[in-house]
Amino acid sequence: MGKALNLRSLLRAGQNINIADLDSAATPGYPGHGKPDSEELTAALGETISDWQERFYAESRLDSTPTRSILVVLQGLDTAGKGGTIRHVFGLIDPQGLKIYAFKVPTEEELSHDFLWRIRRQLPGRGMIGIFDRSHYEDVLVVRVNSLVEEEVWQARYEIINQFEAELAEAGVTIIKCFLHISPETQKDRLLQRLIDPRKHWKYSPGDVKVRRRWPDYMTAYEAVLNRCSTEVAPWYVIPSDNKWYRNWAVARLLEEHLEELAPDWPKADFNVEDEIAAVEQSLA
Ligand code: AMP
Ligand code: MG
Repeated sequence: MGKALNLRSLLRAGQNINIADLDSAATPGYPGHGKPDSEELTAALGETISDWQERFYAESRLDSTPTRSILVVLQGLDTAGKGGTIRHVFGLIDPQGLKIYAFKVPTEEELSHDFLWRIRRQLPGRGMIGIFDRSHYEDVLVVRVNSLVEEEVWQARYEIINQFEAELAEAGVTIIKCFLHISPETQKDRLLQRLIDPRKHWKYSPGDVKVRRRWPDYMTAYEAVLNRCSTEVAPWYVIPSDNKWYRNWAVARLLEEHLEELAPDWPKADFNVEDEIAAVEQSLA
């Protein structure tokens, strides 16, 4: 059972994407046999990721290292599993190195600034892994579908977003954008589960069904995002998400691949280790 090689190239959004052509139940690159071994495989990734993440964080504590951070952007319709991915994948990592933020309907203050203002405030700092549950992409998704601003305003945003992300990449941010792709049938099942189980009512909002009715419009808006904002420095990855076990494994593996490439190393001590050992041994008794 070898490791999947370069999941990035398998999941990277292609050109002229038509979402209806993408299989949301596929399991590209999965090295196991399906759900039964997914927990084990994802847990193993968790261990590797944890180790890389600790090095990444440790390295950033030194002034002499370049400023680097990772930003994972999670987008997808309700029930696609943004929250579940955060729990399952990022739950494996030391919370000290994580900055998780869920973007909601903008506040009045946020609306009084340009749309990237609130995004910039939540970017991960040096050595941190940031996770966006929704993001600046809402400003060309829900905003476009519901005509919350004039068309010329949202049309201009694709290019503004590309420039913004290029600027981040230039500043040392590794951007991993994941579109959690589910089928309408999967969403229906999951919304019904949220209604049938009183412990899940808090996850449901009567507005979700209104969004669901606009499914084709959301797909058009997502296609525009994938086709216009998947750049060399910040590509989109399409994660087939009908199977939660595959979704979790795939996001973990993508993160691992990026960390592997960043290859953070344990920082060298900026003191004389021998001297310090002697000092500790001679201290107190
Ligand atoms: P949830 O992620 O289920 O907690 O819901 C957050 C809600 O905030 C969703 O309905 C989003 O569509 C909405 N939202 C997030 N960002 C924006 C935005 N920039 N403009 C309008 N609505 C937004
Ligand atoms: Mg919701």
